[in-house]
Amino acid sequence: MSFVKKRAIPPLSEILADTPLSAEMKEIKRRRDAEIEAVIKGESGKFLIIVGPCSADNEDAVCDYVSRLAKAQERVSEKLIVIPRIYTCKPRTTGTGYKGMLHQPKPEEEPNILAGIYSIRRTHLRVMAESRLTAADEMLYPDNHVYVDDVLSYVAVGARSVEDKQHLMAASGVSVPVGLKNPTSGDLSVMFASIRQAQSPQAFIYHRNEAATTGNPAAHAIMRGFVDKSGASVPNYHYEDILTAREMYEKSGLAHPAVIIDTNHANSGKNFAEQPRIALDVMQSRRLNSGIRRLVKGLLIESYIKGGAQDITGGVYGQSITDGCLGWGQTETLIYEIAERV
Ligand code: PEP
Ligand code: MN
Repeated sequence: MSFVKKRAIPPLSEILADTPLSAEMKEIKRRRDAEIEAVIKGESGKFLIIVGPCSADNEDAVCDYVSRLAKAQERVSEKLIVIPRIYTCKPRTTGTGYKGMLHQPKPEEEPNILAGIYSIRRTHLRVMAESRLTAADEMLYPDNHVYVDDVLSYVAVGARSVEDKQHLMAASGVSVPVGLKNPTSGDLSVMFASIRQAQSPQAFIYHRNEAATTGNPAAHAIMRGFVDKSGASVPNYHYEDILTAREMYEKSGLAHPAVIIDTNHANSGKNFAEQPRIALDVMQSRRLNSGIRRLVKGLLIESYIKGGAQDITGGVYGQSITDGCLGWGQTETLIYEIAERV
């Protein structure tokens, strides 16, 4: 094999002991987890807004961004649960480019994964301490989930991972809601088969242990649009798309039907500025149809301090170095508009 073993990663217990959660933070997370799970299970009428940059590339900018979200959350706490997106690993279609804070804690420097593990934990812990919000992350690499399992209140499995068995088996053992995206092909039956696997008990090898899970009843759907055979983006957030998902959910007999609509990616054709229009379209579909209102339990929005995106070397504070994001001003307005329409 052509692997070069650079160094051993310290045992998990050592990393967690270096970066512990306070008792107060554990309590905040316990309360938030219960509130968020109640939405997914249809036991709460609140609406989820999973919102933040495509990639969490800089601790200070992310904490600054989340402090703004925390103020907005206070104003809309009767209607919305705001979950900051702190995505620390990025799937790259061609395998090149910025792979996220875990790999490159300093985006302009070479990968340093051990420093990255500490960097992502520090960022999550600081966000929790400063904002009292607990975050969402993508489980891009199931093995690495152990480094964030104690801080996350929401986990996503991405469009490129949703057919992968190791992801689904790990998702079946996660104790907070896991959103499974439709694959890039757009085949919703793949997503529903994956939800079934994540909701079911599984036995598999995890971290060199023979592991067993009880299944995750809060595993659910995220619709993010897809690409057709010529590579063009096709949305799946429209009224009819949601009705199709509803029918498929009904036929599946799966527990706790729930859909989150991703307003960016192939739903916006990566035109980040379309996100407010898409979000309000979904809120209108909810208003028009009680079945859609019961099924669609949240939105996933890509947003940062400054709108748009820049090159990795761009140096603009709080602007995305991966997918284009809505700027803070428009995001804040949108959060209040959504709250009025829940
Ligand atoms: C993302 O949420 O930034 C992302 C990469 O999503 P998807 O898996 O839908 O492409
Ligand atoms: Mn993205």
